[in-house]
Amino acid sequence: MSEVRVRFAPSPTGPLHIGGVRTALYNYLFAKHHGGKFLLRIEDTDQNRYVEGAENYIIESLKWLGLTPDEGVGFGGPHEPYRQSERKEIYAKYAQELIDSGNGYYAFDTPEELDQFRAEAEAKGQTFIYNSQNRDQLNNSLKLSADEVQAKIESGQPYVIRFKIPENETILLDDLIRGKISIDTNTLDDKVLFKSDGMPTYHLANIVDDRLMEITHVIRGEEWLPSMPLHELLYKAFGWTAPRFAHLPLILKPEGKGKLSKRDGDKHGFPVFPLEWITEEGTAKGYREEGYLPDALVNMLALLGWNPGTEQEIFTMDEL
Ligand code: GLU
Repeated sequence: MSEVRVRFAPSPTGPLHIGGVRTALYNYLFAKHHGGKFLLRIEDTDQNRYVEGAENYIIESLKWLGLTPDEGVGFGGPHEPYRQSERKEIYAKYAQELIDSGNGYYAFDTPEELDQFRAEAEAKGQTFIYNSQNRDQLNNSLKLSADEVQAKIESGQPYVIRFKIPENETILLDDLIRGKISIDTNTLDDKVLFKSDGMPTYHLANIVDDRLMEITHVIRGEEWLPSMPLHELLYKAFGWTAPRFAHLPLILKPEGKGKLSKRDGDKHGFPVFPLEWITEEGTAKGYREEGYLPDALVNMLALLGWNPGTEQEIFTMDEL
């Protein structure tokens, strides 16, 4: 097998949640176990949700925990830049490739038009899906000539680029944790890959970077499992082999239901890296200042939902 390469790809949209720390830990341990590489990539394409200082905080937190990346933002490496906002031209090129191969198209629908379609479907007790069922009635390049599309774009009309989900197909997925899953493509949306602000969406940037950064295993929280069919289809559309996927179960509330939130953490005396812990200089403070030891945090997370089958309760990073 080629070298194992995994990544932690947080969006700097707020505090580094304890669930994110666990994802980073699993990726780190997987890389070390296989003598591979652990990368840090900052997924900051959503400018509306960007939080100043969060990136630095993530880097400092990883260092403090001993989960030092081998490559990535703050650590260098052959795939610079590792910050997605600095890689816009790369994604634009791949979005164009999808248009050229017929796997992507321009959509000119306004948010109001889409709201109206949604409302009409809802009134009939249906769910509106932007795919083969509705594409024809909507305002997109599939029914326009190349010249008409060009004219619209040149006139400054805002557009997005959508992925054309194939019709009537069953996709078979194989997740390393969830096992085999099958999905009917007619239930999937032609997701937006490129936004009108010239930025890619998470989906396009994420899979292009995983490909270019030679990621072999995508280990991430289960909230991303619903994106796996689209990601597999994107790999196929580009003619690329997809990495292996492993979707980790989420850390739940102490009652066992629902995703753990910051408020639960506070309520149960279980800090979840709150954002207030970013200092004015943009550096992390938090667990360290509160007197927690990094080894204790790592052990607590490693033993959530797993034990080695012995009485051992404390592990060094090497043992893990
Ligand atoms: N940027 C995503 C996040 O914030 C990464 C998801 C993934 O690992 O693919 O969780």
